[in-house]
Amino acid sequence: MNELRRSKELFEKAQHVIPGGVNSPVRAFKAVGGDPVFVKSAKGAYMYDEDNNRYIELINSWGPMILGHGNELIEEAVAEALKSSLSFGAPTAKEVDMAELITSMVPSIEKVRMVNSGTEATMSAIRVARGYTGKDKIVKFEGCYHGHGDSFLIAAGSGAATMGTPNSPGVTKGTAKDTLTAPFNDLAAVEAIVAQNAGEIAALIVEPVAGNMGCVLPKEGYLQGLRNICDKEGIVLIFDEVMTGFRLSRSGAQGVYGVKPDLTTLGKIIGGGMPVGAYGGKKEIMDYVSPQGPVYQAGTLSGNPIAMSAGLAILTYLNENPEVYDQIESSGKYLAKELSSINTALGKNYTINQIGSMISLFFTEEPIHDFESAKGADTVMFGKYFQGMLAEGVYLPPAQFESWFLSTALSTVDLEEILTAHKKVLGK
Ligand code: PMP
Repeated sequence: MNELRRSKELFEKAQHVIPGGVNSPVRAFKAVGGDPVFVKSAKGAYMYDEDNNRYIELINSWGPMILGHGNELIEEAVAEALKSSLSFGAPTAKEVDMAELITSMVPSIEKVRMVNSGTEATMSAIRVARGYTGKDKIVKFEGCYHGHGDSFLIAAGSGAATMGTPNSPGVTKGTAKDTLTAPFNDLAAVEAIVAQNAGEIAALIVEPVAGNMGCVLPKEGYLQGLRNICDKEGIVLIFDEVMTGFRLSRSGAQGVYGVKPDLTTLGKIIGGGMPVGAYGGKKEIMDYVSPQGPVYQAGTLSGNPIAMSAGLAILTYLNENPEVYDQIESSGKYLAKELSSINTALGKNYTINQIGSMISLFFTEEPIHDFESAKGADTVMFGKYFQGMLAEGVYLPPAQFESWFLSTALSTVDLEEILTAHKKVLGK
């Protein structure tokens, strides 16, 4: 490992001109100590920093790079699209292809609108749910993160939890009062909230598999239970599949668990690394969106041709090669099993949550099923572990409350390298 001289210099300069030196908080390594690594390039399963250190990638741009970096299909599609201009602000054939592909892969989505980020997708989804139901309140779950829209920065996970600002200044009391929060995986709590706010709730939004308090799986029957509550009360059920969409299966977490939401929000993988989001669902709800309906939502760069080309290339590949999911699922299972046996051999029965290509190692021996239990993990220990792994050339998400994302580019040799590093670092 080379020293991080150039990264340090860049961070020093960055802090004068960018808040905290970064364009998204978690990148600053605040939760793990030390200075952030500045990345120069990446290819396949490896990322290279400005000092030419190589890392095995377990973030993959926080999810989008499920096929690893520099995938030729995506790069060729983007190169081809570049020849026809970067943006038009007028409809294109690619947007129709994209909408047809998404609706064919995710059966609950009958109509879909493209936006530019996951944040835009969730903000727009609750707006249309409010417009459709004529109600104001929403229910979200503690530790779930739905982007930085005002309504969601209440008991939020991910960077908001890591930075200790789950309720952000700048969100008005008026907005905050319309967001009700419940613990994840607790149906009785949702029933109680719904009963106390009868007839006032527009939508319930949930990460069907949470990735933003670390990876936390829904208990058996939990998602169906939410579906039943929403059906009974006329509440729009929104699955935020920005992370899980096209990652856990071709039809996301909803395909794995067999529960259909009314609306789904997407991002990350659907852009193949470009800034893209989408929201979609039942036709009768989506027809409330402008210009068909009265709920306004728009975007200068929405459906951007370069982004659509990248997205179409990756989704087409995933659609036509379903064995990809078996491959990364088996990498995920193998890694979880082997990490666990190394831990056990060292007398540490740390909790590991894994589904498909999402994994979190929690520095606690208690089971993790909600944000309260996740907060019991030793974050100081995680910070030391993170730095140890980084020094061994393994790039993990720089916070305990995040999920690792595997890509198909990881070889068995890479997996062994991760395990060797883990054994060495944990042994210390
Ligand atoms: N929803 C979920 C479940 C997410 O994980 C994220 C981002 N990590 C978002 C929404 C927000 O997406 P973006 O960062 O693209 O705005």
